[in-house]
Formats: sequence, structure tokens, C-alpha cells
Amino acid sequence: MSDHKIAGLRVHRLLIPGKAVHSHGIGDVAGIHTVILELITDTGLTGWGEGSPWPAFTGTAEATAAALHVYLRPHLIGQDPVQVEPLMKTAEAALVGHPEAKAALEMALLDLAGKISGLSVSALVGGRMREDMGLSFSVANPDFGKDLEDVAAMWAEGVRIFKIKTGFAGHGFDVMRLEKLREIYGAEADLRVDYNQGLPAYDAVRCIRDLEAFRPTFVEQPVKMHEREALAHIAHVIDTPIMADESVFDAKQALYGVQIRMADIFSLKVMKSGGIRRALEVGAIARAAGIEVYGGCMFETGLAHAAGAHLMAALPELRLDCEFYMATYYAAEDILTEPFPVRNGRVHVPKGPGLGVAVDPAMLAKYAVEPALG
Ligand SMILES: [Mg+2]
Repeated sequence: MSDHKIAGLRVHRLLIPGKAVHSHGIGDVAGIHTVILELITDTGLTGWGEGSPWPAFTGTAEATAAALHVYLRPHLIGQDPVQVEPLMKTAEAALVGHPEAKAALEMALLDLAGKISGLSVSALVGGRMREDMGLSFSVANPDFGKDLEDVAAMWAEGVRIFKIKTGFAGHGFDVMRLEKLREIYGAEADLRVDYNQGLPAYDAVRCIRDLEAFRPTFVEQPVKMHEREALAHIAHVIDTPIMADESVFDAKQALYGVQIRMADIFSLKVMKSGGIRRALEVGAIARAAGIEVYGGCMFETGLAHAAGAHLMAALPELRLDCEFYMATYYAAEDILTEPFPVRNGRVHVPKGPGLGVAVDPAMLAKYAVEPALG
């Protein structure tokens, strides 16, 4: 298929401090604990991938690093990196779960396939329907005064989409923040709500109905990930669109979600589905059922954001934009050599072969938790 073979891989586990604590219905996050995969060919090319789990949501960085270093490495050395589906099929057969490790692997393979062919990752998975998309920032600081300062600064830069993280400090706090943001920014603000499983199912409908007065664009994952039938009930009785995030990781869960009409929107994430192409499968199931999709992410660097941007660029339709804000507005520093492209409140899909971004080795050294594996 190509004249290139995978000759080695290095696994970097990093901890990058955040600018603030972000609170969510399932817990607080104070930084980006992530795994960077460096896939090296015998021809001197490097493909980059990232696995960014969230322990309360998908898994751990330690397990992601071990999955790549110990369990997937033997299946990769000597293989042709453009054989993306055969290698992913092998990885899926060798290791159950660990979607973030598989996402990192697929990202690095596609980056290499792009560098070999001269095509961008979005071109490799079908082409670009769009060059840019709106950016959503998550209002999640338990210190709402600090969030108001951040929102004002971003508003001045052109950001108009804000996702208020709810369900971690009481219903009154949630109502107050929605009311305040709507009062300050009026109808021009696109406000969304994400509970991250923070509502008890028995009382979720009443809480969400209170927030509907502030016209949120959607309400995301109000109940626990396994409470899918409760989520379907909420979507049925609430007028505001309901989005499933934790409740839909992959194509199989998407299919069940369609069968019970679990939500009006599915959040697509490279980390949940185990790669860009698997996320497109979720998108295809959603589209066939008339379910909208959204560009979600974990706590990631600009590298995984780039993969997310290529994924969202390739979707036939995108109306609800994306949330690839961490590299620009959350991380103390990013690991890319050039800033992740956010301008005027919009994410621009990187240009150039592969992912179209480059990792700065000095940043890998600066934020390493342990020596690179491999
Ligand atoms: Mg979410």
C-alpha cells in the first residue's frame, strides 16, 4: 500500500495545568492530564496522536499510556501506517475498551497517511464540508465572578456560544447564572446547558423546565449515563432539545439511542468513539434518524482539537458547532508549535497534510509526568 513501515512509537504522559478549576456534575478538573503518541516510520516521518481520558467519564491517562505502550505496540511495529482500518480492527480485537488509546492510534495513523499522501485528515475521511465552525466556551468555574470576566473577554473576541456547566452546586446557582448571562448578553448569546449527569432522574424534568425560561439552545446529559430510558423520557416531554453525551460513546450505543429516541442531539467525541472514523459512524446513525450532532471534546491539547476539527469538517451537516476551547482558553500552555487556530469566535480547520499541526518537543519535555515510554 505504501513504502513506509512503523518503526517505533513513543508514549508521552503529560499534565498541563489549567487556568482555573472547572466544575461539572461528575466532578472537578484542574488541568489536562493527557497522553501523546508519537508514531515513527522507517522513512523518518512522525505521526502524532492524543488520548485524553477523563477519569469520571471515560478512563485514565495511566491506562491509556499502558494500552499504547504495552498492549498495542506489538501489533504496530513493522506495519504499513496507511492501512488504517486493518490496524484499527486489530487494535479493537486486541484490547477491549480504552477508546482514548484507540483514538490516539487512529489519529497518528491518519496523520502519517496524510503526510504520505499529501492530503489533510479531513480529505482522507471524505473531504471538507466547511473550513470553520463556531466555538463554544464552557462556563464551569465555581467562582462565577471569574467566569463573567472570562465571558466578557471572549465576547470581545467574537465568541457568542457559551455552555453553562450545571448540576454541581445546586439548582439556585444554575438558575442565577443563566438569568445573569441572558440579562447581560440578550438574545445574541447562544447559551447551552450541560449537566454532566448531575440531576437525579426523578426530579430532572422540573429542574430543566425552570431553565427553559432562559431559552437554552440545548440541555446536555441531565442524568446518569446508564439512565438512557430516563433520558429518552426527558427528551420526549421537554421542548428544548436534549443532548446525549455520556450516554452515547459508539455506534452500538448510538443505535440503541435511536431505537429508544434517547435524545434530539448526540455529542460526537473522537475520544468516546475511539477515533475520527468511528465518530463518523455515530454521526451517520444519528443523521439517518434525524438526530443532530455536536462537536464535543475532553480536556485536550490543540492536537486532539485538530483531530476533532477535521472530524467536524467532514460531517455532511453541522448546525450546533463545537467546543474545542481548551487549548486556547483553558490550558496554561498548549503543546503545538503554532496556536490552535481560533479567530473571531470560530475554530478554523488546520490546513496542510495530515492533522496540519506540529507538536513542540520542548512542551512534551516541560509537562512530562514521567520519561517517555518506548
Ligand atoms: Mg458533556
